[in-house]
Amino acid sequence: MTVQNVAVLGATGSIGASALDVISRHPDALRASVLAAGSNVEALLALCGRHRPDHAVIADEAGFAALRDGLHDAGLPTQAHAGADALATLAADAGCDTVVAAIVGAAGLDSTLAAAAAGKRLLLANKESLVLAGELLMAAADANGATIVPIDSEHNAIFQCLPAAHAQTGHLAGTHGRCLPAAREDVRRIVLTASGGPFRGWTRERLTAVTPAQAVAHPKWSMGPKISVDSATLMNKGLEVIEAHHLFGLPGTQIDVLVHPQSLVHSLVEFVDGSTLAQLGLPDMRTALAIGFAWPQRIASGVGGLDLLAHGRLDFEAPDLDAFPCLRLAYAALETGGTAPAILNAANEIAVSAFLQGQIGFLSIPALVEDALTALPSAPADSLNALREADLRARQHATSALPHHAQRV
Ligand code: NAD
Ligand code: MG
Repeated sequence: MTVQNVAVLGATGSIGASALDVISRHPDALRASVLAAGSNVEALLALCGRHRPDHAVIADEAGFAALRDGLHDAGLPTQAHAGADALATLAADAGCDTVVAAIVGAAGLDSTLAAAAAGKRLLLANKESLVLAGELLMAAADANGATIVPIDSEHNAIFQCLPAAHAQTGHLAGTHGRCLPAAREDVRRIVLTASGGPFRGWTRERLTAVTPAQAVAHPKWSMGPKISVDSATLMNKGLEVIEAHHLFGLPGTQIDVLVHPQSLVHSLVEFVDGSTLAQLGLPDMRTALAIGFAWPQRIASGVGGLDLLAHGRLDFEAPDLDAFPCLRLAYAALETGGTAPAILNAANEIAVSAFLQGQIGFLSIPALVEDALTALPSAPADSLNALREADLRARQHATSALPHHAQRV
């Protein structure tokens, strides 16, 4: 058996930990050859000690000396690197077969694009790169034979529910080519499930006083702080609608959202004949990662089976777009097209970061995003430069608007 060399980008995060857990269960088939993190050198060194990769990258260049010396002092064979360029170079390097794109935010775009352009198997958790540059990313994967397996649980569920499509079109997942064919005529719609987050059922009025600690305490999933806040505002589901549009080639009108508080049904595909296929399982990202590593085969992930009798019931309700306008804003940005999704994503990143630092209130997140979308015109998203420009302008716009939203403490 040949060993799959895996670059885990965002290794110190929540998805990174789940990926390394699955990798360590299959020492004959999987090996972490690159580990990369943002700025936490200590955590990266600890992972290097455990997984002994060929390369370790710290994106924050100030951490280089500590990483290099730490690796040396621990007697590890791992080579130290720093900076965003090193991340992209190693993601494309011939030394790895597979890239787990698990950096949070637009910071993950360059390395994700580099992996796609190098024709890697790409386990794509970094949804922001699809929201920001979906057309370019999918085109790079298509042109260079990269296999994208969506790791976001909803998209991974849809990926699992659609395999018949590959036989029809000759696009086999697990071989080269786009993971899923565009705009299947036999799919009526897809339904993304949403847990509803910690504030499901709350009124706008009640949401004004929400604290960062409350917002990151997700009822079902254990995740990094940014996506936890996105889940609480429903922006996460909005980003996922745009993500699904790019992955599966469907318009927003064929992508619906259903709140399902138990988070056991991960998403559904409805076909023209009235059949609906769903994928179910415990809320644990290791299932999706195992699919990513092994598809079209299946391997153990460490996740137990689903005891529906013990869970008892599955509930569904419509999302509340008045209390959680971020979902509506994301649909609108998708409809507008061009650079609007990039503007939405960038303004949201600024707003979430300010909220987590206690600078603004919870309801200022959708307000800042809406303000950026209204103020900045959408341009064609035909080049990386145009997208970067839109991303930068939206960050500047949202940052300059922060004082108007400053919290009185
Ligand atoms: P996290 O905050 O736990 O981890 C983020 C990782 O990115 C860390 O390793 C951090 O060091 C690294 N990082 C941060 N800034 C960086 C930079 N500038 N350059 C390089 N590395 C940087 O986040 P997470 O929950 O693991 O989420 C990661 C991605 O996966 C996000 O895009 C998120 O939307 C997506 N995702 C996560 C989950 C989940 O269950 N956690 C589910 C679906 C999708
Ligand atoms: Mg998700």
